[in-house]
Amino acid sequence: MDALAPPPVINCSRVIAYAHVSGLEYRRAGRLFVGDQEILAVPNLAICADLRSDAGLYLFHCDADWSTIATGGGEDSVAAMKVLAERNYKGVAERWVDLNVSRAEALAWWDSQSGGEKCSFCGRRAFEVARWIVGPSAIICNLCIDQFHDLSWDSLADA
Ligand SMILES: [Zn+2]
Repeated sequence: MDALAPPPVINCSRVIAYAHVSGLEYRRAGRLFVGDQEILAVPNLAICADLRSDAGLYLFHCDADWSTIATGGGEDSVAAMKVLAERNYKGVAERWVDLNVSRAEALAWWDSQSGGEKCSFCGRRAFEVARWIVGPSAIICNLCIDQFHDLSWDSLADA
C-alpha cells in the first residue's frame, strides 16, 4: 500500500515539508518523550509552521494517518529541522517532499474542513481563539466578549 500524503494542515500548522520514514534506521539520538513514555520510530515526519503566529516551526512525529504522536523541534529554520530529523532517522534527507503550503492555501483548506466557521464579529477562526459560543445565527469568540466587557466598564466609568 502506498504511504498516505499528509493534509495541507496538521495541528493548526501548515505543512512545509514531509517525509515517510518507515524502514529507516532509527538512531534514538535526541530521545523524544511524551510524559514518561519514550517515542521510538514513527512512520511519518512533517515540518510545519504554526498558523496562529506563523513564526513557530515544529517537527511533528506522526502515525500513518498523520495524527501527531509527538512534537519536536525548537530550531528556527527548515534546514536546521531537517538536520535535526537526520540525527534520528538516518537517510531522511533523501526523502523530504517540500510542500510549502502557503498561509492562504492552508486557511482555504481549514475553511473547507470547518464549514467556514468564524467569529461573526471579528472573523477569527476557531484555532485563533480559546473558546467561542455558537448561537442560532451568529458565533462570538472569547476575545470579542472580553472587548465587550472592557467597553462596558469604560462607559460606566465615564457616566
Ligand atoms: Zn471575535
